[in-house]
Amino acid sequence: MSQSKTEVVIVGCGIYGMSTALWMLQSGKYNVTMLDKCGILPAPDAASTDLNKIIRSADYADPHYAELGFDAVENFWRKPEWEGTYHESGVMALSASTEKEGLEFVSSAYQNCKDLNIDVTLLNNPKDIKSKFAKNIPTGNFGGRQGYLNPIGGWAESGRALEVGLKRVRHLGGHVRSGAEVTGLIKNGRKVEGVTLKSGEEVKGDLVLIAAGAWTPALCALPGVSARLPDLVATGQSVAVIQLTPEEAKQYASVPVVFNLDDGWYVFPPNPEGLMKMAIHGAGVLNPQSNGVSLPRTKLTAGAEDGAIPLTSLKGLRDGLRQVYPELAKKDYLTTRLCWYCDSVTGDWLIDYHPDFDNLVIASGDSGHGFKFTPNIGREILKVIEKNPSPQYAEKWSFGYSAKAIKEEGSKAAVMDVSKEEAEMAKAGADVRAGKRKVLRESDLVKPHDLKAKNAKL
Ligand SMILES: Cc1cc2nc3c(=O)[nH]c(=O)nc-3n(C[C@H](O)[C@H](O)[C@H](O)COP(=O)(O)OP(=O)(O)OC[C@H]3O[C@@H](n4cnc5c(N)ncnc54)[C@H](O)[C@@H]3O)c2cc1C
Repeated sequence: MSQSKTEVVIVGCGIYGMSTALWMLQSGKYNVTMLDKCGILPAPDAASTDLNKIIRSADYADPHYAELGFDAVENFWRKPEWEGTYHESGVMALSASTEKEGLEFVSSAYQNCKDLNIDVTLLNNPKDIKSKFAKNIPTGNFGGRQGYLNPIGGWAESGRALEVGLKRVRHLGGHVRSGAEVTGLIKNGRKVEGVTLKSGEEVKGDLVLIAAGAWTPALCALPGVSARLPDLVATGQSVAVIQLTPEEAKQYASVPVVFNLDDGWYVFPPNPEGLMKMAIHGAGVLNPQSNGVSLPRTKLTAGAEDGAIPLTSLKGLRDGLRQVYPELAKKDYLTTRLCWYCDSVTGDWLIDYHPDFDNLVIASGDSGHGFKFTPNIGREILKVIEKNPSPQYAEKWSFGYSAKAIKEEGSKAAVMDVSKEEAEMAKAGADVRAGKRKVLRESDLVKPHDLKAKNAKL
């Protein structure tokens, strides 16, 4: 290996870390070691690892995220290197006309799609929406919503895409290590010389990238790391899956992703095994530890193996399903999961050098909408690392941006307040979110019998 290559240590094997590793290795200028705390990769509880994620091409109110999403689909997702993990079902973006934030988001997103010459169809009422579904699909009243259908975009098999990406990292010569939990930074003044693992082993490098997803705030608060961060918080989001029969899976196979941009509810088409996932892109729940920092509580956390979600979310998920596919809302849930976002105040990501160190970069704060950018987020992270950031993102993703946004808006409540329990999600920021954030309480979680449709309190 060339001596002149920069040795990079990447903490976290989710899509932020993996995509950066790919772009670095393809440039030929870096040697990369990726570290993940999990013993199995992709880590089953990483946000990136799931049945599927929505790939919104351009369905953003912010034209720059729209442009980046469109780039991901048009120039990357369909390519053979992603091994068919992307499925172009189209995305239906909806909101009730009475929901100001949601409707504004949908209107701006529609305009951004038009500006990118995407052939989107306006859906002015539930009748227009229903007309986009095949006759053999019984649909509900869509909660009286309106919106548009974007034929470009759809969903990706997210766990498999991460697996494919990590395989490519290894193929390009990157080292990918599981069971390597980082607990400290080796500091020398403003320089970080590498990281320390829980085992005591040191992994040295010229540059350290922390891409630890929703674990980033807890990691940076560890005494061995002690790196200050802007407001970032881990929030647990509710996901549920139902099992369709083979006949139903065939019947619903060609439906688009349906996404309510007002209450955050969304549903995918069934996957090849007939699994249909739905979730709520909302305020989520917090799991504060004794130091006040919220830590993901996942299926790998002792006592949380059942993936239980709050009962209120379970009800919200079924209500959403009833408005779209009433027949399927009569089914039992197969599984549930709490999946964790790393939320920033504004919904923008944090991709920047840490101000206290010369060679420590943070790529986190995904705010629940990073997956669609799997193929191109690494390019943008690498540009930041090489001190040549894309101008349209440089400020938004910078370390000081949330403080500036708060100052300009006058209060945190005017942006997405990530610090207060039960904060109202007042403004969309980079993405639209709904609901009130709550501290997770075991007593609020569903029990197995709640998964049965017959026990649903309607
Ligand atoms: C319910 C849910 C639905 C979503 N839906 C969508 C969607 O439809 N579309 C979309 O675009 N985005 C979606 N997202 C967001 C998307 O999944 C995330 O933006 C993205 O996966 C974040 O990637 P990441 O690499 O930052 O984090 P992760 O994928 O969580 O990866 C972080 C990795 O860091 C590792 N790690 C943590 N701490 C340490 C440590 N101390 N040492 C070593 N390793 C460590 C973890 O084990 C993990 O593997 C969703 C997220 C959730 C939770």
